[in-house]
Amino acid sequence: MTKEELHEKTVDLCGRLIQTPSYSGEEQAIAELIAREMRDLGYDEVRFDACGNVLGCLRGSRPGARVLLDGHVDTVPVQERERWSFDPFCGTVADGKLRGRGASDMKGAVAAMIVGAAYYADVCKRDFAGEIWVAGVVYEELFEGVCARRISEAVRPDYVIIGEASDLNLKIGQRGRAEIVLETVGKPAHSSNPEKGVNAVKKMMKLLAALEDYKPRHQENLGAAIQELTDIISYPYPGASVVPQRCVATLDRRLLVGDTPESVLAPIRSVIDRLAAEDPQFSARAYLREESRTCYTGETISAQRFFPAWRYGETDDFVVNCFEALQELGDDPILTHYSFCTNGSHYAGEAHIPTVGYGPSPESLAHTIDEYVLVSQLTRAAEGYAALIAALLRTGSEKTA
Ligand SMILES: [Zn+2]
Repeated sequence: MTKEELHEKTVDLCGRLIQTPSYSGEEQAIAELIAREMRDLGYDEVRFDACGNVLGCLRGSRPGARVLLDGHVDTVPVQERERWSFDPFCGTVADGKLRGRGASDMKGAVAAMIVGAAYYADVCKRDFAGEIWVAGVVYEELFEGVCARRISEAVRPDYVIIGEASDLNLKIGQRGRAEIVLETVGKPAHSSNPEKGVNAVKKMMKLLAALEDYKPRHQENLGAAIQELTDIISYPYPGASVVPQRCVATLDRRLLVGDTPESVLAPIRSVIDRLAAEDPQFSARAYLREESRTCYTGETISAQRFFPAWRYGETDDFVVNCFEALQELGDDPILTHYSFCTNGSHYAGEAHIPTVGYGPSPESLAHTIDEYVLVSQLTRAAEGYAALIAALLRTGSEKTA
């Protein structure tokens, strides 16, 4: 495959991926398209797992490290269709931009990974030690890091490349996030006689006021462990002449390296204990939200909404090798961090597998109206993935040498 063919095939595949809508839980058509594409590109093995993730493998001539490239294939829905200036599923190029839902988040990266990996294997005529795995992952937009667990179990990678938008910079960390549910319990009564009941909303107001004293910890480069109220609802709702018996609120907690479910919940639970000691009618609890979803295969995934943070050092050998590989392409990347949560929460945060992030487009283009990816960045990313694969395979063989 020539470099021109690499560019052409990447743009063509990205266009077809955009033309194949793939909301979370509805990824069957795009997964099948990817499997066909991988077979056409000469992948040695292509398979699906129970969640419907699609996995392709290119094997080198000798055993060695396993490098996994991870890209989610689901997208957020098209909202406010009338505000788009083109068909969100057109997947066509205009003014140097390949346009449509998912172009930046992250069908561009998925196309560049699939073709870039095949290009690398082809150009070096399979003369490398190790295996390259490319995974098209389902359900990331609603459940980051959950389906990725199945992939790391199956592949057992030594290194992972997350393809989320990085503007062609190298990402070496991100804050994680947790959803904490607060629940207060009162006693229902007719609101004409409120003294006969216990108002759960008023108890929640007390709890939230006490939690305002929370002082977020900071971590270099990652930022603050922000804890923000994101919703609140009383039961029954609407409360027609009734003192509400229950109130539920959600806190979005951004996680730093070292945060655990216990360490995040403990300070909230001690506030609850203090308020309960002061007020015998105060009854509350705090816990992590737990959720289940059904994949297009029928498989149910369920998990607590706790996605850990991760961060690597700027002088770690695999980071240095990846960084230099991108510089050798003639780019001027910076070492930086994702501001949102990615599948890296699983690979790096939970499974402790060395992970970097690299992809076309700035983060700010994700989830936008008139989403696009610059063709120049898309084709560069395909070369970038090939360079990163080479760098990580080399890092792996230096380790075992
Ligand atoms: Zn994404």
